[in-house]
Amino acid sequence: MINSKLSDILGDEKVTLADMLDAREKRVSSQQKILTEYKMLLISFTLNIPGSVKKFPLAEKTFSEGKKLIVRQLKRHNINIVHERDNTSKTGYESFFAVDGNPVYIKKLMAEIEDCCTLGRIFDIDVLNRNGEKISRQDVNLGRRMCLLCGEDAHSCARSKRHDAEALIKKSIEIMTAYFNERFADICASCANRAMLYEVCTTPKPGLVDRANRGSHKDMDIYTFIDSTAVLTPYFRDLVLSGIKFCDDEPRQLFEKIRYTGMEAEDRMFKAAKANTHKGLIFSLGIICAALGYLFANNKSVDTGSILELSKQMTAKVLDDFSAITKGNANTYGEKLYAGYGITGIRGEAANGFISVKEYGLPVLKKLLGRGFSLNDAGSLTLLNLIANVKDTNIISRSDIDTQNSVQKEIKRLIELKGIENITIDEINETDNKFIQMNISPGGCADLLAITYMFCFIQSAVEDE
Ligand SMILES: [Zn+2]
Repeated sequence: MINSKLSDILGDEKVTLADMLDAREKRVSSQQKILTEYKMLLISFTLNIPGSVKKFPLAEKTFSEGKKLIVRQLKRHNINIVHERDNTSKTGYESFFAVDGNPVYIKKLMAEIEDCCTLGRIFDIDVLNRNGEKISRQDVNLGRRMCLLCGEDAHSCARSKRHDAEALIKKSIEIMTAYFNERFADICASCANRAMLYEVCTTPKPGLVDRANRGSHKDMDIYTFIDSTAVLTPYFRDLVLSGIKFCDDEPRQLFEKIRYTGMEAEDRMFKAAKANTHKGLIFSLGIICAALGYLFANNKSVDTGSILELSKQMTAKVLDDFSAITKGNANTYGEKLYAGYGITGIRGEAANGFISVKEYGLPVLKKLLGRGFSLNDAGSLTLLNLIANVKDTNIISRSDIDTQNSVQKEIKRLIELKGIENITIDEINETDNKFIQMNISPGGCADLLAITYMFCFIQSAVEDE
């Protein structure tokens, strides 16, 4: 999928045939120099970019990814890189690695990258022995490389100029773009998965399912949440890809376009878990995942502030549903809460850019992690802080607004008295027992804890890239 025009992606730094011949000559001389100096094998890495533009940001990203893959593959097989040299010019990107080892074995390792990684189709990884002779794919019993477009022998397609340059470059861009989009979607979905699992595993959690007990719930335990998380993870990946696909739309339109995937995810969740484990999170994490894809595809920063702001824009209209609701016509539970107390639940959270996560979740989690608390203990205390500050519709639904206010007040007092970091596990366990006796469960705050974890994980995953 290509959103931008070809010329926007490629730029206009064109090369001539003479430039390419000249570059090839220089490459051979660089190779010779390294071979003479190091008396070892040489891996020579270039990209196979059709057409007359060879140097552009997407190609650079692809090249740098290729280098990472080569270095990782060599390291994995204990092959030492003695020397590494890069060369960039308008004719493209080159890297040379002087390595020690068996040339046939190393050619096999490099061909694995070319054949097994989807981006590998864009790579040309040559292996030269100590005499500067190229080890061919045939030398390691591998077939010739296939044409990107028709699947026939790539060399004969190139020789006979079977395909026009634009079709070839379009296909190459499609391969490169899809690789990075899917990789980003995988990273986000794995963070969402981790956030959901961390949330349910965080122990103790008053009234909620955790590793010690099932809280105030009769119809679910930790395994119900694991089952639900497992089926939902691919949907979060799809939602990131939707954000990428619809990156030219207005944020509000994007929200409309992800509804269908969200409903499919809900059905899968009910089928797998036979309970409402993650309905709130399908909504909120779904918005966050789509926002992540949208920002990524528009080359914007995926920092927490940008995600929160975009989530707000996407859901700007969700509270419109509430505007005509009065005490007289309120039907559903959510409508009654709004009419009675102005509580808008998870929809209000999203429409306000997840303000509770921003104010009561993330700052506490970060502070505690900074002081050396484990993710579990920091999460447990962060949840307490959320309960103390957020009107939890799940608590109200199992009791009433007065009960919600009184438990909230009590936890708030404890935090003010001791300081959040000094609250002990025993004290949280006591609250857990109390919540279980009262049969209440702060499921709304549990969702906010999962979102808090999500922001924490996504930031470190992006920094690691
Ligand atoms: Zn072909």
